[in-house]
Amino acid sequence: MKNIIIFGAPGSGKGTYSEEIVTRYNMGHISTGDVLRAEMKNGTELGRIARQYIDNGQLIPDDLMIDILAKVYDEQEGGHSGVIFDGFPRTIAQAEALKQMLARRGHTMGMMIELDVDEETLMARLLRRAEIEGRADDNEETIKKRFAVYHQQTEPLAKWFEQEGIRHAFTWKGSKEQMLQEIFEKIEKEN
Ligand code: ATP
Ligand code: MG
Repeated sequence: MKNIIIFGAPGSGKGTYSEEIVTRYNMGHISTGDVLRAEMKNGTELGRIARQYIDNGQLIPDDLMIDILAKVYDEQEGGHSGVIFDGFPRTIAQAEALKQMLARRGHTMGMMIELDVDEETLMARLLRRAEIEGRADDNEETIKKRFAVYHQQTEPLAKWFEQEGIRHAFTWKGSKEQMLQEIFEKIEKEN
């Protein structure tokens, strides 16, 4: 299996679709958000630094994030055929670094899957998730900041992937099953 980068705004379903893909194709899963939340929960130095950014809706600085990603990637066991990057890269600098990091290991980015969901749906999902998971950054004020950061720093990356020739965009039309079906078809066509 090719590596997969799953890309989209906060609440677009990156984690949800990643789980489905990972199970179906026996892939590895790297969620940078989950890595950072685990560090915060364990009270590590990294977690302490991360919290200052996350609770404010900001991105963790690129240098730090790139180091974390390379370390987690190298720790993945070899038993599966490809890895899903969920929540990384989020800036052009991260994307360039990922491409180089993989090239040094003789690997490639594979394909990028973009989840396009309207902002009203995103906000409703995140507020619902707040009630279930209680994430500190899922409150209306911080969500708005995260949307702004997404538009400024992350959205321009779509074009970068387009130029790399690996961008595949999927638009939310109200059905998770339909979305999943389209994504599975594309993955199978690309592999
Ligand atoms: P989704 O709901 O689709 O899973 P999300 O954007 O709500 O996505 P995470 O991907 O879990 O949530 O990220 C949570 C926070 O962790 C981000 O707002 C950011 O502060 C930090 N973070 C995660 N990945 C990165 C990254 N690649 N670069 C910088 N900061 C990151
Ligand atoms: Mg997530």
